[in-house]
Amino acid sequence: MTHVLVIGAGGVGSVAVHKMAMNKGIFPKITLASRRKFKCDAIAQSVLARTGVTIDTAEVDADDAAATAALIRRIGASHVVNLALPYQDLTIMDACLETGAHYLDTANYEPRDEAKFEYHWQWAYHDRFKDAGLMALLGSGFDPGVTSVFTMWLKKHHFARIDTLDILDCNGGDHGQHFATNFNPEINIREVTAPARHWENGAWVETPAMSIKQKFDFEAVGEKTMYLMYHEELESLAKHLPEIKRARFWMTFGEQYITHLTVLQNVGMTRIDPVIYEGREIVPLQFLKAVLPEPSSLGETTKGKTNIGVIATGVGHDGAAKTLYLYNICDHEDAYAETGNQAVSYTTGVPAMIGAAMMVSGTWSGAGVFNMEEMDPDPFMDMLNQHGLPWQWRELPAPLDF
Ligand code: NDP
Repeated sequence: MTHVLVIGAGGVGSVAVHKMAMNKGIFPKITLASRRKFKCDAIAQSVLARTGVTIDTAEVDADDAAATAALIRRIGASHVVNLALPYQDLTIMDACLETGAHYLDTANYEPRDEAKFEYHWQWAYHDRFKDAGLMALLGSGFDPGVTSVFTMWLKKHHFARIDTLDILDCNGGDHGQHFATNFNPEINIREVTAPARHWENGAWVETPAMSIKQKFDFEAVGEKTMYLMYHEELESLAKHLPEIKRARFWMTFGEQYITHLTVLQNVGMTRIDPVIYEGREIVPLQFLKAVLPEPSSLGETTKGKTNIGVIATGVGHDGAAKTLYLYNICDHEDAYAETGNQAVSYTTGVPAMIGAAMMVSGTWSGAGVFNMEEMDPDPFMDMLNQHGLPWQWRELPAPLDF
């Protein structure tokens, strides 16, 4: 029987299990496990209250591959949805290989001591998953995830060739706090403070973090300043769609966020190397995470919308040059009303549920390690429309002028 084990009881895990419970026909048995069981139990109670579905809960340290394998074996999970942190990707993949379970995640592996966002560690598992007849689906969140599916849908239906791709991630939500991050603060700050990188003419171009910015008028949000950043789907898109001459990723940040981050960086609070404090080692960024609001606590106060999408230029099947914009708008308050979580968790947890649905139904299948852009985008796009993340697209009069 299909039995999905979701690991990680944060905002994203919470949304994913709520949405799975709402689709009992696809997910007949669900277990939520995390480092601290009480967090799983609280989510299970919310799932029961909102959907009438009972899910099982368990405690696991997913840094420990043997303990994770023991849990998978004990409950008989057929699929593992990893919504813990990127540090756990490889141990959970090892546990899946040991027990014969399929694997899905939303963020690529990162070593703890270096903010490096690269797929090679997980791509190296391809042959082992292939030989075991198992599927591992990488990056089934929004970005990475839906952004790759959007790109492949444009390619499949509208372009003979894509020349340039810009991914635009705007969170127009206001949580009313001086400084907070919308997903795990440690992962978020590592990402934002890393040098920017984009793909151009077959090579990576590196620029200092947050040094290139542009204004863009986002539908339902308004004009925002967005910053050029590195994001992991650029690597897999450059590999799987080598025709792309330039691929960039932009994310919006408010003045207040940048000011706080700059100060935190200047005083050393975003360092990821250990320092000695009162005789023991601590990592400043991990300490900072402990004093910042938990992202899952922001839902109640966050108002506004997210708007995330892709702008592609290229040549249509008719030979004409065109620029197409495909995006989703998600409302923080609607997301909270439905699942008790704000839109950043929602826009990640829903695609995680859909990716898992693609796998358990056999709509997407294969043996090995796959990125989202290797799969048929159409059934995933249909489910986005049906499960809370409707999308729209339009032709722009001209390519971006930056
Ligand atoms: P949170 O920090 O809110 O939740 C992570 C959860 O994982 C917590 O419950 C945490 O436990 C648990 N966890 C951490 N370490 C372990 C471990 N060793 N064993 C078991 N459980 C563990 O993060 P989010 O929910 O915001 O994000 C979850 C994932 O989604 C992250 O990998 C993030 O990078 C990714 N993400 C992807 C996006 C996309 O669009 N692709 C966007 C946003 C996030 P505890 O509560 O005890 O700390």
